[in-house]
Amino acid sequence: MDETQHYACVQRALELGRSGDPVALGELEGLLQKPSPEVRRLAASAVGKLAADGADGERAVKALIPVALSDRHAQVQQYAIKSLGVYGVAAEGVLLDLEDLANSPHPKAYVCKAAAAASRIREALAYREEQKEKRCSKCNRLVDFDEYKRSIDHFQRIYCDHCYDETCVRRRNWETKVEGKKNLKTVEGTLVQSKGEKQIAEWLELHDVVYRYDDRLRIIEGFQIRPDFYLPSLDVYIEYWGMDTARYKAGMYVKQDLYMHHGKKLLSLYPKDLPELDQVLAQKLQALGWSASANGESQC
Ligand SMILES: [Zn+2]
Repeated sequence: MDETQHYACVQRALELGRSGDPVALGELEGLLQKPSPEVRRLAASAVGKLAADGADGERAVKALIPVALSDRHAQVQQYAIKSLGVYGVAAEGVLLDLEDLANSPHPKAYVCKAAAAASRIREALAYREEQKEKRCSKCNRLVDFDEYKRSIDHFQRIYCDHCYDETCVRRRNWETKVEGKKNLKTVEGTLVQSKGEKQIAEWLELHDVVYRYDDRLRIIEGFQIRPDFYLPSLDVYIEYWGMDTARYKAGMYVKQDLYMHHGKKLLSLYPKDLPELDQVLAQKLQALGWSASANGESQC
């Protein structure tokens, strides 16, 4: 190759790398065969750049492999290895070779590139694996990324669009029903659902313990948790477990476990606590860091 030809090939390799045109891959395959290491190096680099432009991964990987694994020039090898990494899952077939190279006893610069490329391919494979399992938790349909993102952000659960909409409607109906049940007013005007809750709320009001009642719904590990009371100053949740059916109790145990597993401070109250509420609640709150005098008790 004379100097003019060499110069032309170098310029062409650079140009193709910048072209953003996946069709350029065909010409680069030819440049990877040129006798000049500089041309092969630039061509290998250009093939990597075209990955982002949608170049055919299988074809690109096929062209890069011989260069990556056995080019006479270490620098050419390095660039080809780096470009292989960019093709991610398409380079799955060469992963073990790259890992062997990375673990080879002769430390050369391309060894580091091989390690980086191998881990990039591994990551891409892991991501593909993860994608496979993204199915709607209700109907088991595969969800696309937008569905996945929307449902996880909103519900911390995977729903397809259909089940997402259905769940939103059900949730809204449920919230309306809950709001409808709040018809008992505490001294300070909070609307609550039951006599037990009213008594607890009024105790908190009397003792100047700031609370949020029936705060925003949280979902932990797929369970709906809507704490009856949340005390921001103590970071304590209070749940009044007012019913006695087997089903209610099963749900109660699950929720109590969830609070515990997530390191939340939960104060549980039951109907049997109501006659002695003043004493029981004070004791349980003190155990969680509340002090009566600091909260205005002495002024009452
Ligand atoms: Zn679904």
